[in-house]
Amino acid sequence: MLRKTHAFFAAATAFFVGLTPSQIIASSFFGIVSDMDHTLGLRHRGFTHSILFALLSFVISSALFPNLALPVLIGVITHIFADMLNPEGVELFYPSKKNYRIAKFRFNSKSGNGIVITLSLALIFLKLKGYSINLSIIKNLAYTIHNYAIKIGIK
Ligand SMILES: [Zn+2]
Repeated sequence: MLRKTHAFFAAATAFFVGLTPSQIIASSFFGIVSDMDHTLGLRHRGFTHSILFALLSFVISSALFPNLALPVLIGVITHIFADMLNPEGVELFYPSKKNYRIAKFRFNSKSGNGIVITLSLALIFLKLKGYSINLSIIKNLAYTIHNYAIKIGIK
């Protein structure tokens, strides 16, 4: 998917689950971070597009900046989901090199990006209508990890 599609999808998801405005902006940024694999010389849609990366980035951000843990998780997960609509798929279970996909839209296709944008608009609409998902369990987990990090002297 296009970078702006990733950013918008992450922001819409963050809005849907009731994050603060600054967390929504952060989510939008973390929604494009996975594609820095190019810049870092990593295989594209490998490690940074995996469940392992989502978990590691959640734990690390929880330990250091718990306010960013949900924006990081939402950014990475929405990114992976949107890229799974591409024909190449992603290495979801990295270090396994097997690629997983759920559709075959090219990253710049109007229909692929259109579906993700429509889904984003639907999330915003649902939130405005009073629907949401409560992620307080994950938020609490982030603070539990953070407190543990303080206890063992990492933070
Ligand atoms: Zn990507």
